[in-house]
Amino acid sequence: MKKLEFFTKKVLCWVCLLCLVALLFAFAGCKPSKMQQAVESGNHYTIVASYDNTHHIVSATQTVTFTNRSENAFECVKFHIYANAYREDAVGAIVPAKYHALAYPNGESYGQIDFDTVKVDGTPVAYVIEGQDMDILSVPTKEIFPDESVEIEMTYQIQLANIHHRLGYTANAVHLGNWFPILCRVRNNTFDCTPYYNVGDPFVSDVANFDVKITLPSNFVVASTGTMTEASNGEAGITYCYEAQAVRDFALMMSPHYQKLSQMVGDTTINYYYFADKNPQQSLLTAVESFEYFCKNVGAYPYDTYSVCETDFCYGGMEYPNIVMVASKSQAYDQAIAHETAHQWFYGVVGNDQIANAWMDEGLAEFLTYLYLDESGKMPLAKNILANTKTYTTYVDVLNHFYTDVERNFRPICDYKSDGEYVIMTYVKGSLLFNTLYESLGAPKFWKCIAHYYQTAQFQIAEPNTMSGCFANIGGKQVENIFTTFAEGKEIIGEMKD
Ligand SMILES: [Zn+2]
Repeated sequence: MKKLEFFTKKVLCWVCLLCLVALLFAFAGCKPSKMQQAVESGNHYTIVASYDNTHHIVSATQTVTFTNRSENAFECVKFHIYANAYREDAVGAIVPAKYHALAYPNGESYGQIDFDTVKVDGTPVAYVIEGQDMDILSVPTKEIFPDESVEIEMTYQIQLANIHHRLGYTANAVHLGNWFPILCRVRNNTFDCTPYYNVGDPFVSDVANFDVKITLPSNFVVASTGTMTEASNGEAGITYCYEAQAVRDFALMMSPHYQKLSQMVGDTTINYYYFADKNPQQSLLTAVESFEYFCKNVGAYPYDTYSVCETDFCYGGMEYPNIVMVASKSQAYDQAIAHETAHQWFYGVVGNDQIANAWMDEGLAEFLTYLYLDESGKMPLAKNILANTKTYTTYVDVLNHFYTDVERNFRPICDYKSDGEYVIMTYVKGSLLFNTLYESLGAPKFWKCIAHYYQTAQFQIAEPNTMSGCFANIGGKQVENIFTTFAEGKEIIGEMKD
């Protein structure tokens, strides 16, 4: 009996030891999640701001910790200052001519950003406002070698224009989209200083981490990127504190007229902010249903809030991380909500260069919206595809009538001849590309490709070959030909009526 006890103890000791070793191995081999990796490798922004509702001015102090993750040494750090695109003396118009009246219902109005001081590691520096249209802030620094960091602190005021646009104020709300100086993306060891364009969404930025504190008039209701961690009353109004991790931008929409409806989906709170919507429950339902549909088919949403905001916007909608604008009085309001919701996955979690390859997120968000509308019984897929096929073939017919060598290839947004051509090539033809993939792969395989692409490129800026490669991994090599023919403008749809 004694011997057996000793033996049992010995065996138990060995089992314990083995378990411990196995546990250690398990921890050692445990890779951090993609979200964790993105948080760890992201730059950090701290913004302390306030809004003066009488003069429509945002005042802010912003600190950015920038780490050089390239192979080059830098002697300056560059930021996009899109707020300067609203200047009176801007070379480029903020919207194409046909949207001018919609954007400025109360007449032209201007905005800009002015800096008080810019400091690097605590020392004031002689910053430069540069770029084709004064929309780049260049901050001279010491030589920053690979893996080294600098801390840049800036104080500034943003004068908002009275405009129905991403950044500005209207009779119903204040829009803070693309408002703060945001780091130019480092690509091929250099800062990508692409200017503002008035076609498409001319923005591309890596994911970063944000701590934002903003003081607002106490009658304001506010929606934003990230999670609110604190709200406190003071003499100047209410101060809200937000945290956002691994997001590629930070936007806020606020209004004294906002009402709010909310619903939980899993661990995420879905909010709907509105001021004129006659059927807000229906709008919230569309946000919730489309969100659930994309979670189920594409993959889990990694953030804990998602807010849809009714806004006076001169286009149908605009996507930001965790928050979207939908144009009040939009004819296809439900469709716009679903489209902007799809962007949370493609643009938000999986980024792409929206200047060079706008079709990647716009075409996909549009097609996924059609699939959601079909599933929910709101509009059959075939109807949307037929309409887009007719639009596209008519467009090609008309062009062929007037020109030889009609360009039908995907191009950067600045290379399209008009806003109309951008819409046809990006949304209409883009959605037809994804429909061709859907038809040739069948629904189950198509969704597998989408989920695989989502898992592969999370928190990155995906290139076209990242997307086509993911489709080829699941759907076979021949799928890549579909991407190539559409990209080059040799797709069969456009040639049907040639
Ligand atoms: Zn879109």
